[in-house]
Amino acid sequence: MSVPDSDATADFHVVPDFAGALAFAQDLIRIPSLPGAEGGVADRVLREFEALGLSDVRRDAAGNVIGVVKGSGRGATVLLNAHLDVVAEGDHEEWEYPPFGAVVADGCLHGRGAMDIKGPLALMTYAAAATAGRLPGDVVVAHTVFEERGGLGMKHLLESGEVRPDVVIIGESTHGDICIGHRGRAELEVVLTGLAGHASAPERARNALDLLPAALEAVADVAAAQPSDPLLGPSTLVATDVRVAPTSRNVIPDTVVLGLDWRILPGTTEADLVGAVRRALDRRLAERPEGFDYEVRMATEAQVTYTGLARDRGLLTPGFLVEADHAIVTAVAAAAGRRDAEGPAAVRPWTFATDGGWSCGVHGIPSFGFAPGEERWAHTNRERLDLDEARWVLGRYPAVIRAAMLAAG
Ligand SMILES: [Zn+2]
Repeated sequence: MSVPDSDATADFHVVPDFAGALAFAQDLIRIPSLPGAEGGVADRVLREFEALGLSDVRRDAAGNVIGVVKGSGRGATVLLNAHLDVVAEGDHEEWEYPPFGAVVADGCLHGRGAMDIKGPLALMTYAAAATAGRLPGDVVVAHTVFEERGGLGMKHLLESGEVRPDVVIIGESTHGDICIGHRGRAELEVVLTGLAGHASAPERARNALDLLPAALEAVADVAAAQPSDPLLGPSTLVATDVRVAPTSRNVIPDTVVLGLDWRILPGTTEADLVGAVRRALDRRLAERPEGFDYEVRMATEAQVTYTGLARDRGLLTPGFLVEADHAIVTAVAAAAGRRDAEGPAAVRPWTFATDGGWSCGVHGIPSFGFAPGEERWAHTNRERLDLDEARWVLGRYPAVIRAAMLAAG
């Protein structure tokens, strides 16, 4: 496959080692790494950083792994980011190839993490190493923990000041396009409360389930008023879960927790979300009988990293969007090119959330994705990485890194 050169890339021919990157990706797939259990993969990545000659190789308190390819002068700092964790593999019998086998067949690398994201992690790491001595700024390679559960690792990495990038390249699958943002996601809980009692004497109790219809109407009110972005689409809100307490069938419950899934536009805060649902409940439940109450809160999850860092996290992953005509986007799209045609790479948002929500949505650092892989295989038992596409992206990475660095400088 021939690659059209552009002015931005014509003087920058760096050829990273595809066979080395593929072997590294296979090793990573063979090491399971659910969120909170990324230690084995982190150790393996650190060894590869050392072997490839990266500088300042280290692990931070959250268990993220960091290495640097030092620039020759004063250029902008580019962060290359993938994540160390993968989603659960499910029933091994349902896989075409073993999930941790890292089998190469039919022109693809197969297994959990092949495209999300151990394959791209390996490619990015090898691409960074290949630019040594060729770029004015630093290329920081940092692969993070807990991405699949909201991004505790990336959040920690940036808040700690451990890295201070001017631009971030995310290795989530783009099928060779440049991806410039996505919606975020939040989980909220509506808590409805009454008074428990024996099911045989309902007149002495306040059944929290009686508030549920009005609460669902309030959620529908908020859902109907959601804004839309021309590129990212609408913000969507839906109730997805109901739990009662106590759970006995012969007890009238005093607590009902209604779970909400909210796909949010960039810039939305926890206070915005909680406030909107609370106001809708205030309207729908103004006439409730005495003895009933309600509250709205962010859902939280206790997370502990493999290094022992513990956090009670509100479940909100921010969205982000870089303007399609931003100078960095224009530069990297030209540098990436297209695999099958002349001209710059296609520029579009992702449909799923990434750690770019933290780097760009929260910290305001221009961030974009460029990686091989088709979204439809992610998180499935047919996960695979097309090797021709992977080889093509690896060959384009050095020019994309350089274009991002120069445009951000
Ligand atoms: Zn991913």
